[in-house]
Amino acid sequence: MDVASDYATNICSHCDRAIPSSNIDLHYAHCSRNLEKCKICDDMIPKKHAEEHYLSTHAPVSCSLCSETMEPEILSLHKGEKCPQRIVTCDYCEFPLPAIDLFEHQEVCGNRTELCHLCNRYIRLRERTSHEVTCNGVPNNAAETSRGREGEREGGRRRPPPEDLSRKKLLFTIAITGIAVVLGSIIFHRKPVSSELH
Ligand SMILES: [Zn+2]
Ligand SMILES: [Zn+2]
Ligand SMILES: [Zn+2]
Ligand SMILES: [Zn+2]
Ligand SMILES: [Zn+2]
Repeated sequence: MDVASDYATNICSHCDRAIPSSNIDLHYAHCSRNLEKCKICDDMIPKKHAEEHYLSTHAPVSCSLCSETMEPEILSLHKGEKCPQRIVTCDYCEFPLPAIDLFEHQEVCGNRTELCHLCNRYIRLRERTSHEVTCNGVPNNAAETSRGREGEREGGRRRPPPEDLSRKKLLFTIAITGIAVVLGSIIFHRKPVSSELH
């Protein structure tokens, strides 16, 4: 630094930098032959790397998610906050999905209900946050009865199984049929008798 300030400097008309006066001619010759100013960022770029500089720094790039073309400087902002295809998560179920589908999904998802364990009411997910503030914690139906025990006690005394009933019915049917057969045979045997009478 001290050394540099000891010398007078000239401004290179090609690159606009301050060059020690003793070097200015040599510098200018080299500078004007090899360097050129980038029209976009004003940096001095070696002429042979000008195209490479443009492509790597300024050429439009396309978003890998939505394939929109844009300047490279805004690509990371686009992917992080603007791209319609960037992955976001639903506020209610935390399911990851493209940003463009988020509104429609949350319209449906936020209408689902979930049981509030404080007041025992079903609350829409979209109202959950505001409900948590206003929930009075008073259960909706505190009377949870302890039924079910009484039904089990009756099992001690056995009822006749259903097949007993149908067997009785079957025996009854056989009996009726038997009587009918007997009656029929009596009538059958009588008929010749009665015809003989005429
Ligand atoms: Zn220069
Ligand atoms: Zn540039
Ligand atoms: Zn995009
Ligand atoms: Zn959801
Ligand atoms: Zn509640």
